[in-house]
Order: sequence, then structure tokens, then C-alpha cells
Amino acid sequence: MNTANPLQHWLSAKLGAAGERELARYQLQRLRETVIWARGHSPFYRRHLTGFDAARLDTMNAVGELPFTCAADLRRNDPPLLCLSQSEICRVVTLETSGTSGPPKRLYFTRDDQESTIDFFHHGMAVLAHPGDTVLILFPCRRPGGIGDLLASALRRLGARPIAAGPVADAAQTLALIAREQVDVIAGIPRQLRALARHGAVHGTSPVGVRAVLLSADQAAPALVEDLRHTWRCEVFEHYGMTEMGLGGGVDCRAHAGYHLREADLLFEVVDPDTGQRLADGQYGEVVFSTLNRRGMPLIRYRSGDISRFIPGPCECGSALRRLERVRDRLGASPRLSLSVLDDALFALDEVVDFDATLHDGSPPRLELAVQLSDAAAGLDRVRAALIAIPAFDDARGNGGFCLELTATAVATAPTPAKRRMRIA
Ligand SMILES: [Zn+2]
Repeated sequence: MNTANPLQHWLSAKLGAAGERELARYQLQRLRETVIWARGHSPFYRRHLTGFDAARLDTMNAVGELPFTCAADLRRNDPPLLCLSQSEICRVVTLETSGTSGPPKRLYFTRDDQESTIDFFHHGMAVLAHPGDTVLILFPCRRPGGIGDLLASALRRLGARPIAAGPVADAAQTLALIAREQVDVIAGIPRQLRALARHGAVHGTSPVGVRAVLLSADQAAPALVEDLRHTWRCEVFEHYGMTEMGLGGGVDCRAHAGYHLREADLLFEVVDPDTGQRLADGQYGEVVFSTLNRRGMPLIRYRSGDISRFIPGPCECGSALRRLERVRDRLGASPRLSLSVLDDALFALDEVVDFDATLHDGSPPRLELAVQLSDAAAGLDRVRAALIAIPAFDDARGNGGFCLELTATAVATAPTPAKRRMRIA
């Protein structure tokens, strides 16, 4: 297996004469420039960084002296974080906050900010797509500057042929499109692709010739990844990113051992979520990042809320870009009963197409679980058995664990919600 990582070209082009061994020095220099730019142009950072001397940022440990930026700062936006006038912004993204009536987060990007995302996607997609490939994009594609649009631009730059189809509305139609267009690579939302795979398996319309799949925009359970790999006989890659990162954050290589991070554009840290102390490689904590090249709305030490760790040691692909372990949970999720625990239990079952979960406070707490099955008659017992094997439910018999209310519906075709989190009622 050839594991050489095309992201090396991206890194070399960014660092130029400095060479990849100089990555840390490059990051510190860019962070100093970002601090000076943000303090000079953003009313929020002018106040937030009062008295901070950028020259102190001469070692990675010194980065820990900078204050964090939080999601609440973005939502409040008073004083504003934006560094430029609106006329210099070409893309605004509004992120509603699920489960609350609070104000949304707004992110602002200049054309150059977006160009750097296209550049990262271009080289990141080269890990799995080749010139001449047909690549089906099942992310939202309608808005100029949105994820589907930027990915399509990156793929054209790579010499591939993107088909910007958007999220799956009808599994049968999408499977027919894959066959008709002889698609080589598919990029989409994990649960949607899983639903496509299940639909194809049940109806005998599984695609042939799909060589690779890229999953992004939501957590991908190991059981889901394994199912896709097995059902479509393809290589499955995972991308990590959030809008605040400028969409792109990291992508795994052919060794499939963690996301190689977009470190020439973003400086990543893992910190203790309670104390805020920087943690050593290998230790689990909250992922924090600073933008290094962004001009419209730079973010300095932004707390992502994602829990993960840096994977210590080099990757077999030889890339100098550090790796982050697959992000499984958000801060605040119970380790005993989180979405990833449910994903692992349920997506291991062929009959499960999808599910929704609502957690109700109480004593014991109650979980409403609505499971969609391709075969309701045979599937329900297996679902119940898989859930009972989760310790949080077993403990419900007297140890203050979780009480379960299970409903199941049979579905011919998968529903197509874009993104899901476990709702807390
Ligand atoms: Zn690698």
C-alpha cells in the first residue's frame, strides 16, 4: 500500500524555505501576527488581549498564556469579533444553537480565507481522489462558499469531476446516479451514507466501483465505518472540521490512524477542560485551536468543545502533520451514555437504518429512542439486546442508571436529516 501523503506538498508550499521541521516556529510567527492583527482590528480582541505582549509568544508553552475564546463570545459578539468591514467579507455563516433560544453564532470569511480552505481541500482530497475521478458530493451544495461548493472547486483544481448533488433525498435515486455516472469517490454525511449502504444491500442495488468514501460533518461511529467499508468494499476516510475552523480541520491518510491536522493554517492544542492547562500528546482533553492566516474573523485559542487527544509518534505515511484521534464526544456528554456509545451499539446491526435519541432528566434519567429499521419484525429484539448490553442501561436496575423507552418503525428508504446530536430534553 502506498501511504505517501499528498498533504506534504501542501505543507511544503506553505512553509517554503522554512522546511517542515520549522513548523512550530512558523506557527508561532503566524500566531504573533494574528494576535497583532486581531488586537488592531477587532473590538473584541482589542479588549480581550489588553496588555498581552505578542513578543512573549516565543515557545509553544507561552501560547498557554493567551486567554481562550469561547462559543459564548461568538454568540454575544459584543464587542464584535469581526476585523474588517462587511464589504470585505464574501461569506457569512450563521450557526443556530441547538436546544436553546440564544443568539446564533456568526462566522465571517474573506475571499482569501475561503481560498485557503479550498487549497487544503485540494491537497487533502488528493489523499483519496485522483485526476480523472468522478466524485459525488452529498454535502449541502447550493450556497456559494458553502462546504459543497468549496469542495467542488478543490476537486476541479485536482483534475477530478465533481458532481454536486447535495444531501440524499431519495436513496434509490442516489444509488442510480452513482451507477449511471460511474462514481469513483463519494463524500458525504456518515449517517446518510450508511443509510444508502443499507438501502443498496436490502434492494440489491449496492454500487460497484466506488473506490473511496470521505465522511465529514458529523461523528462517524467505528461500526458505521466498518459497515461502509465492508458493504461497498471501499476505503473509508474521515475528515474533521467545523465552521469555526473554516470548515477544514484534518483528514486521515491511507494508514487510517487519526486525522492529520491542518497545522499550517491552524494551531491545535488539547487542554484540560476544567483547568484549561495544556496537556501532553496522548492525553485526552478539549480540542482548542487558533487560526494562523485568517483575516476576516481570526479566532485565538477557540474552545471547540470536542474531546480527543494527539496521537503520539510519527505516522507511517511520513507526514510531519500531527494526528488527532477520532473525535467521539462533545464536552458534557456522559461517558456512560453518549451518542457515540449508542452509535457503536446500534450501527453494528444491519437492520438499523438510523435512530433519534432524546434524554430526559429525572431519577432515573429516561432515554427516548426512536429506531428506524429496515426489518422491524426481526430487528427489534436485536436492538433491545444490543442496548441492554450497554452498562448504563443495565445499571438502571437500582444504580441510578438510565431508563429506556424504545420505539421502532420500519422504513423502506432512509430519512435524510443533515446532522444529529443527542437532544437533551
Ligand atoms: Zn499518516
